[in-house]
Amino acid sequence: MSLNTKTCKNCLINNQIPSVGINNNGPCSYCESHSKQKDFSYKEKISARNNFDKIINKTILGKRNKYDVLLMLSGGKDSSYILNLLKKQYKLNVLACSVMRPLLNSKALDNIVKITKKLKVDFEIYPFEEKFYRNFLGKGLVWGYKNNMGPSIGCQLCCYLKDTVCFNIALKNGVKIIVSGWDKSQSSSPIIFFKEQDKKEYLENQYGEIYRLFLKLFPEYRNTIYDLNLDSIDYKEFPSIISPLTFIDYSIDLMYKELEKIGFSKHDFSPLKTNCDALEFFNYLSYSYYGSHINTMSISREIRKNGFLKINNKVLEKKRFKKFY
Ligand SMILES: [Zn+2]
Repeated sequence: MSLNTKTCKNCLINNQIPSVGINNNGPCSYCESHSKQKDFSYKEKISARNNFDKIINKTILGKRNKYDVLLMLSGGKDSSYILNLLKKQYKLNVLACSVMRPLLNSKALDNIVKITKKLKVDFEIYPFEEKFYRNFLGKGLVWGYKNNMGPSIGCQLCCYLKDTVCFNIALKNGVKIIVSGWDKSQSSSPIIFFKEQDKKEYLENQYGEIYRLFLKLFPEYRNTIYDLNLDSIDYKEFPSIISPLTFIDYSIDLMYKELEKIGFSKHDFSPLKTNCDALEFFNYLSYSYYGSHINTMSISREIRKNGFLKINNKVLEKKRFKKFY
């Protein structure tokens, strides 16, 4: 970290991260604009929850496809918990979709096989072409740092591929709803969209730049499963995305309790914060370029919303979380 680095007095963001401004002794530009915005409200959460229940009821009572929803299953505790919920509580026909990145650890794969077998859920495992993946990540990281894409660029590149494969599998199977395990630290609002315009804005903001990089660097992969087709997509047909963990009430303890009932132990998930072995490398790059942990932006968003950070149900005070990360 350079000598001139300034860190926000509220969160963990520092001024080496692109697009961040920090006043002399004040908060960062993100904290400043946040204090002017309305918070992610209880009302929003309740309305997302109601919408979710309505959609599910309509799905169950209507003409059903082979699959009601596609779940992006990573093998971590969050998506495993959601799979259990969709299957047992909501009685949905679920297609679980797991994308095997070369850097995924083997424990995640064991969990995927175990839970889909246990809950009798169909699953599609899609293995990435390793050579393409390495090339995409290697070139993408160089491009990302050159273009000041911020600390989480490694994860963003990987997510573009992983999410695109799941979207294309949903489209191929005619599935209208995709369920993700993203929680409120990974998304800025309860994602539950059905309007074409909402889908368009979301996909452009989330994947637009990386999609264009993909087209430029890998034209031979056009119209493959890695192509998001943003420029010719039929937004009407494109599935809606719902992230239940942004609006349902749950705790980590409850998750483990439910997963224990179907034969898992805490130990099966404990080292799997994001199921990926590349994090140390991405962190090394992120600290070298921005003096920051790769999750700095999402953790800081959490701190802005709550005023503190919770890890495994323990509240970390400001001094301690600064030390922790
Ligand atoms: Zn801040």
